[in-house]
Amino acid sequence: MLEGLQQLMDLQVLDAELVSARDEQSEIPALREKRADERSVAQQKIEAATGLTQSAEAEQRRVETTLQDQEALVEKLEGQTSQVKSNEAYTALLREIEQAKESISEAETQILEGMEKIEEAGATQRRAEAGAAAVFKRSEAEEKACDERERALAARIAELDGARSETTARVPAELLEQYDKIATRRRPAVVAVNAEICSGCRVDLPPQLFVELIRAKSLIQCGNCHRILIHERNLQST
Ligand SMILES: [Zn+2]
Repeated sequence: MLEGLQQLMDLQVLDAELVSARDEQSEIPALREKRADERSVAQQKIEAATGLTQSAEAEQRRVETTLQDQEALVEKLEGQTSQVKSNEAYTALLREIEQAKESISEAETQILEGMEKIEEAGATQRRAEAGAAAVFKRSEAEEKACDERERALAARIAELDGARSETTARVPAELLEQYDKIATRRRPAVVAVNAEICSGCRVDLPPQLFVELIRAKSLIQCGNCHRILIHERNLQST
C-alpha cells in the first residue's frame, strides 16, 4: 500500500487550521487601523468643539471690550455737556452720547446671546469628551484583546508549522506535490471515500477506479474534480 495516506489526511487538517489562523492574522492590521480611525474621529470632535468654545469666548471678550469703551465714552461725553458753548455743539454732543448708548445696548444684547453660545459650545464639548472617553476605553480594551489574540495566533501558527514539517516528512514527495497543487485551487484537496462516489464533488467513481482505490497501490484522483481519494479502510488513526 502507498505510504503516507493517513499523514496526508493529517496534513490537510493542519493546513485547514493554518489557513484560517493566517487569514485571521492578516485581518489584524486592518482592524487596528479601523480602531485608530475611530479614535482619531473622536479626538477631532473634541478639537472641533473646543474650537467653538474658544471662538465664542473670544467673541465675548471682544464685545465686552466694546461695551467698556462705549461706557467710558458716554462718561467722557457727559462730562463735556457743561462745557459746550453753542446749541449746535450741544445737540451734536447729545447725538454722540445717544449713539454710544445704542452701541452699549447692542453690546449688552450680544453679550446675552454670547453667553448662550458659550453654554451650548460647552455642552457640545462635554458630549464630545464623554463620547471620546467611551471610544478610547473600548478601543483600549479591544486593542489589548487583539494583542493577546495576535500572540496566541503566532504561537499556534509556529506550532502548526512545526507539526506540518514533521508530517510532510512522512508523506512521499509525489503525493505531497500533487496535494499542494490541488490545495491551491480547492480545499479539501484530499477526501476519504467509503462508497463508489467522490465525497468531494459527489460524482460516481468508475468500478475499476474504486478497486484501485481499495488496493491503494498508487495515487488515485477523482476524474471529475481531481481531488486525491483515499478509501477509509486505508486510513489508520495516528
Ligand atoms: Zn470529485
